[in-house]
Amino acid sequence: MTGTASSTGGVDEALRAEVERFVAHPVVLVASDYDGTLSELVDDPGRARPNEAAVLALRLLAHLPQTHVALVSGRSLHDLTILSGLAGEARLVGSHGSEFEPGVIDGMHPGADGLLDAITATIAELADRVPGARVERKPASVAFHTRQVDPLLVPDLVASVLLGPGSLPGVSVKHGKDVVELTVVDTHKGIALQQIRAAVGADAVFFVGDDLTDEDAFTALGADDVGVKVGVGPTSAGHRIDDVAAVAELLGLVASRRAVRT
Ligand SMILES: [Mg+2]
Repeated sequence: MTGTASSTGGVDEALRAEVERFVAHPVVLVASDYDGTLSELVDDPGRARPNEAAVLALRLLAHLPQTHVALVSGRSLHDLTILSGLAGEARLVGSHGSEFEPGVIDGMHPGADGLLDAITATIAELADRVPGARVERKPASVAFHTRQVDPLLVPDLVASVLLGPGSLPGVSVKHGKDVVELTVVDTHKGIALQQIRAAVGADAVFFVGDDLTDEDAFTALGADDVGVKVGVGPTSAGHRIDDVAAVAELLGLVASRRAVRT
C-alpha cells in the first residue's frame, strides 16, 4: 500500500505538529520496532545495540504518568529483552507480535512444533549449500537471512523457500530486509499493537517502524494515532523519517513534549 508519507530526513513541521496533538491525549502508548528503527541493521544480529538517545527517550516516557512504552519486534522475546535493556520499563513483545511471555506463543496450534521442526530442517539444508546464508530458529518461526549472500543468488534462493516449505499448509511467510521468515502462527504486529492498546487503555498510539512487517501495525492505527515509517519503501504510515538517528530525535521530542504535559 502506498501512503502519503514523503521523505523529509529528520522531523519535519507536519510531524512536529502531530507530536503536539499526540502528547495532549490523557493516556498514550509509544510503540516501536527494534531492528532498523532503534538499532542500525548489522551483519551480526547479536550485536544490534540500540541508539542510546532513543533508549533514554523511551525510558523517560515509560516513567511519565499515563504514558506507556512498548517494543514490538520480529526477534524472539529473549533476544529483545537482552538487546533493548528496557525490560520492566517497556512492554516487550517478540516473534512479530505473538510472544508476550518468553517461549509462550499466542495462536500456536497443536502440531505446529513438528511443522516448525520440519521446515527448519528443510531451510537448514538449503542454507548449507549457500555461502553466507544463515538460519535462525525462533519460538514460532524460522528466519532465513540473506544479508551476507551473493545478491545474484538471492532471488532463486527466496523462490526455493517460498515454493518449498513456505507453501505448506499452516505456514505463513513474512518478508523483511534481507530475510524471509516462515512462521507457524497467524498473527502480526497490528494485532499485538491493538492488544497492548486495550491492555493499557491508550487514547492514542504512536508507532515507529522500518520494515514490511511494520505495515500491519501502521494499518491498525486510527485517526488519533501517529505512524512513522523509517527509511524508503512503500508505506501506509502517515509520516516518514530517514534513519535511526532521526528516530532518536523524534522520540526525544515526544518525550520532552509529553513531560511538559504531564
Ligand atoms: Mg525493523
